[in-house]
Amino acid sequence: MSSKDAQVEIRHDLFCPECGYNLRALLSNRCPECGYSLDALRSDVPRLPWVYRAELGHRRAYWRTVWMTMFQHKRFCEEVARPVDYRDAQHFRWVSVLHAYVPILAATILLYALAGPKPFHEEFFDQALWAVWPVAVLHVCLLLFLAAATGLPSYFFFPRGIPVEQQNRAIALSYYACAALAWTPLTLAILLVGLVVIHLHEITGQALLMLAFFLPFGQLFAYLADLIHIGGRVMPQCKGRLALLGVVLPFLWLALAGLFFVGVPWASFYFVLLASNLF
Ligand SMILES: [Zn+2]
Repeated sequence: MSSKDAQVEIRHDLFCPECGYNLRALLSNRCPECGYSLDALRSDVPRLPWVYRAELGHRRAYWRTVWMTMFQHKRFCEEVARPVDYRDAQHFRWVSVLHAYVPILAATILLYALAGPKPFHEEFFDQALWAVWPVAVLHVCLLLFLAAATGLPSYFFFPRGIPVEQQNRAIALSYYACAALAWTPLTLAILLVGLVVIHLHEITGQALLMLAFFLPFGQLFAYLADLIHIGGRVMPQCKGRLALLGVVLPFLWLALAGLFFVGVPWASFYFVLLASNLF
């Protein structure tokens, strides 16, 4: 079964995506433990659709990468066999953050257009000032939260015990795990449909609102599960580190949420109250 290329010895720590066996020094084209085909691992050509976004188009490349990251773990994790572009990974992360943030911004603007202060009203500026700035503060906090929450997991992907090259690839691949954020527009669409439908058919409306409430938790769970899956395949020698990630990361996310949705807004409201009393 071995092709001509397969005679080249694998010169670095490389783990079978199927069983985690270290393939270093291997000559054959199949994993000796489980028989997994090593064709994709032996290739130098990246298979992440995101890498080919210039040719594929951003949207198609993005959604194919989301799909691959979330539902084709083995195929996705084969990327650890070759250098993974760090800037591509960061770019993917920021696009995912915007997939979560922009629909929320759009929903806020829609809500303001429907129920916010009306222009040409004599107290418009006074109302707008007090109705807009707390929401503006919350939006800045939301962006900061998303940036911090998607940056944090990479700290679990460079344990000291593994070679630097493997660390670099693992870090870059970990950024792709935030693919679950891409589904936020769907969550918000269900929320909006639920808000409309509840006036027409109460039970269906309530069911949709309930679904929209729980979907973000599902997204977070998928994000965490993808991180653990990816970690398990690209650095199977670091099981302890991954267990730590599984336990600690939800609490770190919770702490960030507390900081950005309670601490910072509270401090800024307090500051504004104080300032408005002084002047
Ligand atoms: Zn194997």
